[in-house]
Amino acid sequence: MYLCGPTVYNYAHIGNARPAVVFDLLARLLRRSYKLRYARNITDVDDKINQAAIDSGKKIDEITAQYIKAYNDDMRALGVLPPDIEPRATQHIDEMIVMIGTLIDKGFAYEAEGHVLFDVSSDPDYGKLSKRDLREMIAGARVEVAPYKRSAQDFVLWKPSTPELPGWDSPWGRGRPGWHIECSAMAEKHLGETIDIHAGGQDLVFPHHENEMAQSNCAHDGAPFARYWLHNGFLSLDSTKMSKSLGNVLLVHDMVKKIPGELIRLALLGAHYRQPLDWSDAALEGARSMLDRLYGAIRGIELSDAERKAADPPAAVIEALEDDLNSPKAMAELFSYARALNKAKDENERRKLAAEILAAGDLLGILQMDAESWFAGNNDSELSADDIESLLKQRDEARASRDFATADSIRDQLAAAGITIEDSPTGARWRRS
Ligand code: AMP
Ligand code: ZN
Repeated sequence: MYLCGPTVYNYAHIGNARPAVVFDLLARLLRRSYKLRYARNITDVDDKINQAAIDSGKKIDEITAQYIKAYNDDMRALGVLPPDIEPRATQHIDEMIVMIGTLIDKGFAYEAEGHVLFDVSSDPDYGKLSKRDLREMIAGARVEVAPYKRSAQDFVLWKPSTPELPGWDSPWGRGRPGWHIECSAMAEKHLGETIDIHAGGQDLVFPHHENEMAQSNCAHDGAPFARYWLHNGFLSLDSTKMSKSLGNVLLVHDMVKKIPGELIRLALLGAHYRQPLDWSDAALEGARSMLDRLYGAIRGIELSDAERKAADPPAAVIEALEDDLNSPKAMAELFSYARALNKAKDENERRKLAAEILAAGDLLGILQMDAESWFAGNNDSELSADDIESLLKQRDEARASRDFATADSIRDQLAAAGITIEDSPTGARWRRS
């Protein structure tokens, strides 16, 4: 599996974390049944990096080293396991030069004014992945075409560098690669000509993945590039596109200082990966109360290593994940286990259910804390969701028997623990204030 990774010129925002988390879950799932080789690249040569170096007065190497480290630290905090290979573009320039040379030799690319361009008209399959028609694209093109391009859709494989910009010697002069060729060359080197799964965010379908596919198919005489393409939907913030110009960007780096990583992770897995995900306080609170309920169920049950090792995640959780990585369904299935555990009286049954829930937690990358630390560290009150539900039930019973003194004292106790109760026709609702 190959996932297009970050361009390292700033901190990852919560949208950037979505593909890393979603495809980390897929990698964990695949490893149960297959021998997986998972590559997630680092784009460490890019004009945005060059600009960041100019803006900050730092060296390019300092910028990329700083943000590679930050990315890895931030993803670790979200429970993302390191991929098997993390190839860096700058360490694969030779492979890119060879691939570009092959494309020229086979008639799919041409050199013009120090640039090398991919000739899209030479590839009859161009547009297939993103379901675009090349003729329509050409007809609709309004962009000013660079003079060295034969067609507006031709894209850069290699471009010349001025002396102050990073560059490498090549048969076409000193220059640097285009973005798309990086992934084609790194995927070929580490995963071979045909890879099973190619993943990334939906925005990468065109042009990035279309171009990767064109380069690789043409360089490899038509051998399929990827058997399956998986694209995650976009994350918005309070229904608005997350963008720097709007100033509504949430950086993972800041968030993990305040919010437990597995809580952020669960909120990211709260929507099916192909669907859009709207990030909001409500989404985070939803994930928090899910974790409260799960930790509340397993709290106080001390399992031995042997009991943990012997347990498998519930079959229904696996089935949901094996059905196009349906993480919301997997969570719903896990809850039915937590409910069963809450009801179970038999100690062996309780231990077995707790071990299965924890095994599912290991697969999903949640429930990695000790239940006591979860409640100590994450609730303003020391009350779990289960404690609160049970107090609310007692309050309802007190009110039903017109024992208002008890009902009021329970309300006060909850208020002191930072819990607000809202009575509604369908019963009391609560939230942490
Ligand atoms: P970039 O560093 O911009 O190349 O982005 C890294 C990854 O994050 C790519 O796979 C993008 O598709 C993905 N990505 C960027 N913004 C979002 C977003 N708002 N929601 C989901 N994925 C995103
Ligand atoms: Zn890529």
